Amino acid sequence: MSGERGIPVRTGQVAECEIVGLTHEGEGVGRYQGFTLFVHGALPGERVRAEVVSVGKSFGRARVTQLLAASPERRSAPCPLFEVCGGCQLQHLDYPAQLHWKRRHVVDNLARIGKLPVAGEEAAGGDGSAAAGREPVVVHPTIGMEDPWRYRNKAQVPIGRGEAGLIGGFFEEGSHDIVEMEACLIQQEENEETVRAVKESARTLGISAYDRASGRGLLRHVVVRNAAATGQRMVVLVTNGREIPREMELIALIRERVPGVASIVQNVNTMRSSVVFGEITRTMWGEDVIYDEIGDIRFAISARSFFQVNPEQTERLYRTAVEFAGLSGEETVVDAYCGIGTITLFLARHARRVYGVEIVPEAIEDARRNAALNGIGNAEFAVGRAEAVLPRWQKSGVKPDVIVVDPPRKGCDPALIATMLELRPKRIVYVSCNPSTLARDLRLLEDGGYRTVEVQPVDMFPQTGHVECVIGIQRIDT
Ligand code: SAH
Repeated sequence: MSGERGIPVRTGQVAECEIVGLTHEGEGVGRYQGFTLFVHGALPGERVRAEVVSVGKSFGRARVTQLLAASPERRSAPCPLFEVCGGCQLQHLDYPAQLHWKRRHVVDNLARIGKLPVAGEEAAGGDGSAAAGREPVVVHPTIGMEDPWRYRNKAQVPIGRGEAGLIGGFFEEGSHDIVEMEACLIQQEENEETVRAVKESARTLGISAYDRASGRGLLRHVVVRNAAATGQRMVVLVTNGREIPREMELIALIRERVPGVASIVQNVNTMRSSVVFGEITRTMWGEDVIYDEIGDIRFAISARSFFQVNPEQTERLYRTAVEFAGLSGEETVVDAYCGIGTITLFLARHARRVYGVEIVPEAIEDARRNAALNGIGNAEFAVGRAEAVLPRWQKSGVKPDVIVVDPPRKGCDPALIATMLELRPKRIVYVSCNPSTLARDLRLLEDGGYRTVEVQPVDMFPQTGHVECVIGIQRIDT
């Protein structure tokens, strides 16, 4: 025994352990004499020797030094930068196993944090009292991609100064040093081509790269989007100042080198922080937006708007959300956290009236434009915090039959949940990118008279640890 009382390891020690699980960060969950170690580089089912790098009260962190027994699901990561980049966490795990562990992660959170019984799973966590006498939640197998590579339609590339001048790629994990990158296997090839062309053009014209240490230099980030359905591309140059020297030449070079470029935008960010975008956005050339399609709906996307990054899986995600909404065409539906109105417009085709609310004003402008673009006349949008706007709608007499929520990682605001419970819609559809805040919110809904019926995990981000789910929730009528 060493270190703190009851903790069997200390920093620097090499421990031999069995890996029994996988965290959403792609670390193996190891057990060493009953103590939990999160082991970087280890996979479930493996036996490893690992060097302990830190020890806390309830768990420690370690790094594999030797694989004693490898998992049959282990493979070598196809990307040579896998270890340094940190953008992907699961390239060393077979794709079917990735899908399995993503479902597992959802199940564990529902049980542990949500205290929900899951069909086909042994009751885990809690005392099971909340689970007594109710139908268990069905968690379906994760919907994966046929080809889980080259799916991202957006790249956000930090630019910096290397020894030989302007470079761009990614921040080395845990630092602000930029590593030059030519290829990223989860990016659509078009994005790679666009980024390369922009970097080369900037080099040709002697446009300076931002230096994070001194705060000097112009080009901070290159953000590019590719709309596969229309072939249009967008380039956003995030600059440390308004003036771009030789701007006309830069535009000309980008147009010459980037096929399909339809929009070149500047965003000015002079802050000394790691936030990517600043307040001012201006179109340098072309349109303010590019157009993409999901299913049979067309979307205008502007530089700052949120748009799902995996178009193929997004369609599956939205179709599942519409299916769980169970619409007959007569319903009033609210879509909270609606972004540019993506789910809202999918729902509008099947409902009497839909209301979307979103905090980013530009996104709501896009949402309105998108409704018009698709000839959808039964959608209404409001700018604001969902938790503030929903009570306003409630006062003005809006009575939703179904509420859809698709919040950011931190989940729903408690005030929004409270208002939902007052409005008592027949169904709630929750689209979640974070199983732990999801489980927390489901517990509140369950305690307020709702039942979680089914959960559909969808793999929106293959090779990474992230998992997205759609949840069908019903009001219990008493
Ligand atoms: N449903 C959309 C967007 C989901 S992302 C889609 O699938 O494309 C979550 C969105 O919630 C973002 O657009 C973000 O700007 C917005 N948001 C964050 N906090 C919010 C709040 N308190 N109220 C309303 N919208 C919010």
